[in-house]
Amino acid sequence: MYKRILLKLSGEVLSGEGEKGFNHENIIYLVDELKKILEYGTNMGIVIGAGNLFRGREMQELSPTIADQIGMLGTVINALYLKDIFEKNHLRTVVVSQVTSLPSIRPIHYDDINLYFDAGYVVIFAGGTSNPFFTTDTAAALRAVEMKADILIKGTKVDGIYDKDPKKYNDAKKFNMLTFDEAIEKGLKIMDTEAFSICKRYNMKILVMDFFKKNNLLSAVREENVGTLVVP
Ligand code: UDP
Repeated sequence: MYKRILLKLSGEVLSGEGEKGFNHENIIYLVDELKKILEYGTNMGIVIGAGNLFRGREMQELSPTIADQIGMLGTVINALYLKDIFEKNHLRTVVVSQVTSLPSIRPIHYDDINLYFDAGYVVIFAGGTSNPFFTTDTAAALRAVEMKADILIKGTKVDGIYDKDPKKYNDAKKFNMLTFDEAIEKGLKIMDTEAFSICKRYNMKILVMDFFKKNNLLSAVREENVGTLVVP
């Protein structure tokens, strides 16, 4: 069983696909799925996106640098929202970020992050990479490497990586496992190029899995055969 994971979730996990804002049922589903794993003492880092609030590229009326800063602030809003709901559901949670100084947010400090994990806290990394022109996939790759995670789990609405779009092609084939080189050779898009290259460079395994299937995250953390595993 993996001991330390970095879970990347899109902001739409909080709102429902194609929706904006927060859907309480979705968030309680997330809480329930996390509780099943935290029981085992798993160290859990989370990078949350902001697609339920703002995505830089969707705000064409703004300059990209401003739009992306608004996007990053969206991840901070999501992190604080989750912290409060998690704690109301008895999950001890700390939000860390380098982009804002707010009373409920702590700076990122490597030694402290280990202490939070030792004390059983969920650590939510807010604020993306702190830089415009990136996405939270890249933030997830960076944080996974920084916190020495065993694996980066990308929770999505699809159950893995296919050779072609399974929504368009009936004969699309799902991969159970791939190497980084095979993924490049086959031109498969797993994460952003930047995120993928950080994971490849630092030998960070990636698992792409369906987050919306009950108990799937637990199976993933138990190293059962779910989703698609990308390995060095
Ligand atoms: N963002 C950014 N730098 C980062 C991470 C995120 O500028 O390092 C901005 C960017 O505008 C992005 C938005 O924050 O569109 C929300 O992140 P993302 O699109 O990754 O969210 P998700 O699609 O995962 O919900």
